Amino acid sequence: MNDFLFDPENIDDFNADYVVLCHELGHVITWFCYGEEIGCLKCCRCTDNLIEARVTLPPNAKLDELLHTPKYAMKFAERLLAGEISARHALGKRTDQICSKGLPVGDGPDQLAKAIAQTNPNSNLAKEDVFKVLQFAINHGQSGWYAWIVERMSRARDVVNQNWAAIDQIARRLEPRLPAIGKTQVWTKDELLAEMKKCGIHSCNYGSNASTQG
Ligand SMILES: [Zn+2]
Repeated sequence: MNDFLFDPENIDDFNADYVVLCHELGHVITWFCYGEEIGCLKCCRCTDNLIEARVTLPPNAKLDELLHTPKYAMKFAERLLAGEISARHALGKRTDQICSKGLPVGDGPDQLAKAIAQTNPNSNLAKEDVFKVLQFAINHGQSGWYAWIVERMSRARDVVNQNWAAIDQIARRLEPRLPAIGKTQVWTKDELLAEMKKCGIHSCNYGSNASTQG
């Protein structure tokens, strides 16, 4: 088991343009590699000059239902983790840790699980990838939630590592097209698929090699 899952360091460079793109492409490419349908990538530049980026998933009326199934929750959590893993990869940081910013991780696993359960779902913290992963872990991993995350990290890291050359190349191609302050740039699903095709990315079947139950 990894004893250093939560990184107490605050990584400011997470906000650099190229790193933000790597983060988002980590989400997109992992989801695509799992054979799931991707959406678009939207980037706005705020007045503080930082890029606010998000990827959207196509509308899925069954999403809530799917997230209650262990296997889909695993894939979804790995997709979420692949963002930070890609960002860390871009920065040359260790990729077996997740940022603990705002989380009471020092209080121990039981207190952390309790704090997660009591957090206002509309808070900024609740919108963070890592927070969502913790929620899935507690719901699906129960008392073994820590090991559940470590396993998700390991699988997400494998996908990011396998596709790192493509993530890096696409991020470098998109970076000059990022918007100016106050503007927005959207890459559609088809544009993203075309970029991935140039890099030879093919979807893989998660189910065929999954070591998971459910
Ligand atoms: Zn993210």
